Amino acid sequence: MRRIVIAGGGTAGWMAASALARTLGPAIDLTLVESEQIGTVGVGESTIPPLQNFNRILRIPEADFMRATSATFKLGIEFENWKEDGHSYFHSFGTTGRDHWSAGFQHFWLHGLTNGHDAPYDDYCLELLAAHAGRFAHLPNNRMNYAYQLDATRYAAFLRQLAEEDGCRRVEGKIASVELVGETGDISALVLEGGRRVEGDLFLDCTGFRALLIEQAMHVGFDDWTHWLPCDSAIAVQTASVRSPVPFTRAIAHDSGWQWRIPLQHRQGNGIVYCSRYLEHEVALDRLLSTVEGKQLSEPNRLRFTTGARRKQWHRNCIAVGLSGGFLEPLESTSIHLIQRAILRIIRMLPLSGISQRDIAEFNDQHLADLEQIRDFLILHYKATDRRDSPFWRQCASMEIPESLAQKMELFRETGRVFRRNEELFAENSWVQVMMGQGITPHSYHPVATKLTAEELKTLLDGLRDNVRKTVEQLPPHEGFIAQYCAAAEKSPVQPAATVI
Ligand code: FAD
Repeated sequence: MRRIVIAGGGTAGWMAASALARTLGPAIDLTLVESEQIGTVGVGESTIPPLQNFNRILRIPEADFMRATSATFKLGIEFENWKEDGHSYFHSFGTTGRDHWSAGFQHFWLHGLTNGHDAPYDDYCLELLAAHAGRFAHLPNNRMNYAYQLDATRYAAFLRQLAEEDGCRRVEGKIASVELVGETGDISALVLEGGRRVEGDLFLDCTGFRALLIEQAMHVGFDDWTHWLPCDSAIAVQTASVRSPVPFTRAIAHDSGWQWRIPLQHRQGNGIVYCSRYLEHEVALDRLLSTVEGKQLSEPNRLRFTTGARRKQWHRNCIAVGLSGGFLEPLESTSIHLIQRAILRIIRMLPLSGISQRDIAEFNDQHLADLEQIRDFLILHYKATDRRDSPFWRQCASMEIPESLAQKMELFRETGRVFRRNEELFAENSWVQVMMGQGITPHSYHPVATKLTAEELKTLLDGLRDNVRKTVEQLPPHEGFIAQYCAAAEKSPVQPAATVI
């Protein structure tokens, strides 16, 4: 099983190629097939903190990566108009306050509220206040938890260079068909236009929404989650920056979905996500173009998608990585992370001496658990809302939700407790911030908080808040930090790759 063939050279394809080539080197024979004619999806610019680990595994110096991708730092997401019009809250990457082993900080904060301490929960979170102040720096002991906002096209190009340096062979060409072995149903080769065959032992399907291998050739099936995550369309457009880049992504709800704003060093990424049942494309386009700031730098890129997941990510000798495996909509910037998780799993389970059905089952179970946990977290944003001002929001508020999410929401409402299950991506503080931000207030809190005397409670809360405030005051402006640490050499706008959908 030495010959690994990657079909597709978007973010998924080149992340897989660079990680496999760097980790395994000459132990494998690696080929990537992509087609310039088709291009990549050209979006996917907001990330979450585990991407730092991916860079570490690839031994990529952070400043080099940020320069090459024109990246900015990201401390979280500002959710505007989600609970109700005019309301906003922040989902930060950091911790808030300090947890006790028996109860999260929210219990102490809730106890404080009933005892005259009325400072917002936000005031106890370093990343959140730093984001709002537009400040950033690396702090000792990785005290500042962050991710990146990056240029997707440049990211793929950057990874391509690494992968090719490490021995990955790139083949330019359009895949015309996928050749299956009659008796087993395994893939034996990709056949390109013009007849060239690219043979392999293991194939990674990174062909994006087309899912050429895993679905079009192998027909594994797809579970549609549109009844929970109803948005099915997006339009992306790039604009010139009109102000200093803020260290966070904005997700602004509208009557039939939401809009994103992602500031990079050299431009801003903008987009509108919507449910086509409630909003027509032309109206969505007008809304996007009338609300963006700065000169338009690209043609609007229209994308259609169905939220959901392939029934199997790994089938026979083919593994789906990226959009070919499914899509959960970009609200919490989780797709690149899912790519990363899949790739690290593939490397851990690499079947160099033959494919084991047990590996396949384990891989598929683990990936499905990731998808379902993220799916629940996303549904929370639509379900727990006071908005009833449009058919879209009325549908969201009244929909049935998965039992796993209903249990989490009710437990929090009754007790203030959240539990993180099985390496779940989103930590307790993420759930707390989003549940409270969307308007779920716990009816009670853990009694351990009441053990503190009034004086001890005051010392704890005031001390934590002062510490956060003083730290933020000492941080440099985000833009200044980038300028001295990782300024991109070339600041002119890059046109996105061709639209593929
Ligand atoms: P693609 O980029 O579509 O790449 C597919 C590759 O396959 C291309 O190289 C193409 O040329 C090749 N290919 C296809 N067919 C053929 C063929 N016949 N022959 C040869 N080659 C072929 N993710 C995040 O993490 N954060 C975000 O903020 C975010 N925002 C998003 C917003 C929207 C609206 C959408 C739709 C997605 C967003 N994503 C986001 C997801 C993210 O864009 C993708 O996960 C990421 O770009 C990976 O895409 P991909 O490589 O799987 O597919």
